[in-house]
Amino acid sequence: MAIIKTFELSKHFNNLEVLKHIDIQVDQNEIVVLLGPSGSGKSTFLRCLNGLEDITGGSFEVNGIHVDAKLPARQRKALIREIRQHTGMVFQQFNLYPHKTALGNVIEGLLTVKKMRKDEAVHIGERLLDRVGLSDKKDTYPSRLSGGQQQRVAIARALAMDPAIMLFDEPTSALDPELVGEVLSVMRELAQDGMTMLVVTHEMKFAREVASKVVFMADGVVVEEGSPQAFFDHPQTERAKKFLRQIT
Ligand code: ADP
Ligand code: MG
Repeated sequence: MAIIKTFELSKHFNNLEVLKHIDIQVDQNEIVVLLGPSGSGKSTFLRCLNGLEDITGGSFEVNGIHVDAKLPARQRKALIREIRQHTGMVFQQFNLYPHKTALGNVIEGLLTVKKMRKDEAVHIGERLLDRVGLSDKKDTYPSRLSGGQQQRVAIARALAMDPAIMLFDEPTSALDPELVGEVLSVMRELAQDGMTMLVVTHEMKFAREVASKVVFMADGVVVEEGSPQAFFDHPQTERAKKFLRQIT
C-alpha cells in the first residue's frame, strides 16, 4: 500500500523549474532514500509533500489524502492541514523551542494540535524520549543538549504525532561527525520497527544498509531508481556515476 505517491508533481519558483514531473512512490514500511547533488530539488520535494511549499503542477497523495495542483488554494490548504497530522518531518536544523525542556518540546504538538490532557501527553512524551535514548534528559533545555541529542528530541517530537510516515531532510548534515552515529542508529531502529520513511541524506552507508529503495534525483527529475545494491554497484546513467564518484 502506498503511503506516498506523486503524479507528475511539479514545482516552479517564478521562472525556475525546480521539480519536473516527479513520480515517486513510498509503500508502507518502506525506507526510501532520496539522493542527488545539491540544488537538485530534494528539500523542495519534501517540503511540497508536507505543504511547506505549494505545488504548481501534478498531484500527490499522502496516507490516502489527494492534493491536486488544480484544486482551489483554499481546498488544498485544508487537505495539507490534514496531511500534516499524519506526517512527521525532521530537518537539518533541529528547530527546538529554546525555552522548553526536551519533554516540553516533545509534547507541544500533543497539547496544542491534538488537545491532549497534560498527564496523557507527558506519559507519551516520556516513552518517546526513552525510545530515542534520552529519558535522563527530559528536563534539560536544548542549549544544554548536544546537536545529536537535540536532533533525537526533534525525532521524538515528530514521532509524538503518531505519523504514518517520517520525512527526514539531511538530519545529520549539521552535526559534528562524532554525533552522526547516534542519530543514524535511532533512525535504523525506527526502520526496524517498521516506520515508513523518506530520507534525504548523504550518509551512503546508511542508504546502502537501510534503504528498501534509492531514488536518485538531479536537476529536478528522477534520474534513477532501484535497490541500493543496483544503484551503488551498477549505476545506469552517467549522471549517477559522476555523483557516486564525487561523494565516495
Ligand atoms: P536540494 O535540497 O536538492 O539541495 P533544493 O530543493 O533546496 O535542492 O533547491 C532546488 C532549487 O530550488 C535550487 O536551485 C534552489 O536555489 C531553488 N529554491 C529553493 N527554494 C527556493 C525559494 N523559496 N525560492 C526560489 N528558489 C528556491
Ligand atoms: Mg536540501
